[in-house]
Amino acid sequence: MSIAEPPVRSEPVEITHNAPIPTWFGIGGGADRFATPTSVAQLLECLRIDPHLRILGDGANLLVDDDGVGELVCSLSAPAFVAVEWNDRTGLIRAGAGANLPKLITESVRRGLGGIEGLGGIPASLGGAIRMNAGGAFGQIADVVKTVRGVDRLGRSIERAREQIDFSYRHSGLDDLIITEIELQLRPGDGPALRAKLKDVMEYKKGSQPMADRSAGCVFKNPTLDQAVPEIPGTAPGQRVSAGMLIDKSGGKGTRVGGASVSERHANFIVTDSGAKARDVITLMEQVTRRVQSAFGVTLVPEVVVWRRS
Ligand SMILES: Cc1cc2nc3c(=O)[nH]c(=O)nc-3n(C[C@H](O)[C@H](O)[C@H](O)COP(=O)(O)OP(=O)(O)OC[C@H]3O[C@@H](n4cnc5c(N)ncnc54)[C@H](O)[C@@H]3O)c2cc1C
Repeated sequence: MSIAEPPVRSEPVEITHNAPIPTWFGIGGGADRFATPTSVAQLLECLRIDPHLRILGDGANLLVDDDGVGELVCSLSAPAFVAVEWNDRTGLIRAGAGANLPKLITESVRRGLGGIEGLGGIPASLGGAIRMNAGGAFGQIADVVKTVRGVDRLGRSIERAREQIDFSYRHSGLDDLIITEIELQLRPGDGPALRAKLKDVMEYKKGSQPMADRSAGCVFKNPTLDQAVPEIPGTAPGQRVSAGMLIDKSGGKGTRVGGASVSERHANFIVTDSGAKARDVITLMEQVTRRVQSAFGVTLVPEVVVWRRS
């Protein structure tokens, strides 16, 4: 990790009051204060106003409680944070944290650059994808990360090389870093083969997940078992098993609280109707956790990030 001195000045930033927080769940409370900084200098001013500010990516892994949040919420969606520089010869991409991951995937395949086509169908900003180490059966974003840059809560510039980041399954350890810029190392490859792979990945996702419903993707992480589960043949200590399988086998599929229900298509997805409350999702998550715990003695840990008023 390297720390550089903070830039000398911050710049004034516009703050909106009582703003909605857009998420893929399409429910939940808003932000008392919201900003879309247009430069790192404005981001530093946001940090000066509220060192505990929260960063909103694409809102694809986020549930905001119905009361909303009091901290300043910052979206890195201004042009300065979504720009992407491509080097087709070397495969190096330098991108802002607000860059849209699905667009990046489509463009990388168009340019014949391989490495992220396996992440097709994952809605995210690049910063959010790095923070969550987004991925699945066909790879994870950590596989192509070269460098992550950002600022810490004191406004100091931080740069971390891939080897300095504690990536593991759906984990980056970058919780205190506000990610502003990323370098990804892709591989110049065979365009038609990459296109075919992306198509397969998208078909797999569409066939197995309720992509058209409002959700935050998988609600729980796939747990690693401490011991074999007698009720599920073939399980062994140390094995990572599907949370969706455990929820399904415990009878959770289709269960509902208010406007939130466990998807019939994929038991690790909670989907919301238009009248749903964030509280419905939270209560359903608690019920599902209890159900799996009592059926199999396995504790599910949420993958979805829940923002609550503190
Ligand atoms: C239909 C659907 C399918 C999905 N499928 C998958 C899948 O296959 N695999 C998978 O891993 N995930 C999946 N997800 C979940 C989601 O796409 C990922 O977790 C994604 O990485 C979230 O990125 P985001 O930009 O939306 O982050 P947000 O939801 O906006 O934020 C998530 C967390 O990251 C933090 N964050 C965001 N940006 C930054 C930043 N620049 N700096 C620091 N912190 C930041 C936020 O503060 C928050 O704590 C799916 C979601 C949906 C809705």
